[in-house]
Amino acid sequence: MFELTNRVAIVTGSGSKKGIGRTIALTLAKQGAAVVIADLNADGIQDTVQAIQEAGGKALGVELNVTNKESVDAMVEKVLAEYGRIDILVNNAGISQKVTVEDMTIEDITKVFNVNMFGLFLCSQAVLEQMKKQKFGRIISLSSVSAKRGGGVFGGAHYSASKAAVLGFSKNLAREVAVDGITVNCVAPGLVNTEIWKSLPKEDAEQVIAGIPMGRPGETEEIATTIAFLASEEASYITGEEIDINGGSHMD
Ligand code: NAD
Repeated sequence: MFELTNRVAIVTGSGSKKGIGRTIALTLAKQGAAVVIADLNADGIQDTVQAIQEAGGKALGVELNVTNKESVDAMVEKVLAEYGRIDILVNNAGISQKVTVEDMTIEDITKVFNVNMFGLFLCSQAVLEQMKKQKFGRIISLSSVSAKRGGGVFGGAHYSASKAAVLGFSKNLAREVAVDGITVNCVAPGLVNTEIWKSLPKEDAEQVIAGIPMGRPGETEEIATTIAFLASEEASYITGEEIDINGGSHMD
């Protein structure tokens, strides 16, 4: 697969034990990157760091709240003190909530945007100076099929809107920093085989599967390997792009 030796990668939200971020972190580490495991969840951070180290990889755990600028800046400082560079940022931290627009409050929508969009902004902004100095950077953000088809399985309209905002923001940023050797891309997963999927009642699960031509949810590895490609040297001329990973459930 794609060689990432000597690369330093930050993966936000990689402390979720069964989440996509953990698999992204493990995959980038397997390809040789030193990976920063950044999350709110201290236990989860420890767990991912240990898994990477046991597999012979390099990892640094940092407690991070993506919605807090001081916390984001402190993380970047820590990474630079430890490794001296930042090559890859994966904006994976995200939250969702199942609620209708009628029942939604302004607090609900603010909370979702704070993490999914404003947190992504703070993290992206914080790595730009270093990436520009290096004349190399890869920013890859998790959008969602729900940004494109108006909802997925679990989220509300605020989630869809925040993930659509991620696409627009990333394309604009891609134009701004292309000249500095920094690429900015998104992946838009459909349903992924994580905890939330496993918790769905059988009838609901069958209904969801009926809408996926491949007849199954995606595996976290299928998201992570696409991200490893976008993070690689080989993807050097791809920017402002979004890659659907959804088993055919939505085709542009
Ligand atoms: P998850 O809930 O398993 O993990 C998310 C992680 O983000 C958690 O470890 C959580 O602690 C962390 N986090 C939340 N708020 C944070 C904050 N303020 N600061 C730092 N960390 C924070 O989620 P997942 O299912 O693995 O999804 C990962 C990403 O992929 C999300 O952006 C999600 O929207 C997107 N996505 C998921 C699916 C799916 O089917 N699971 C589909 C499409 C897109």
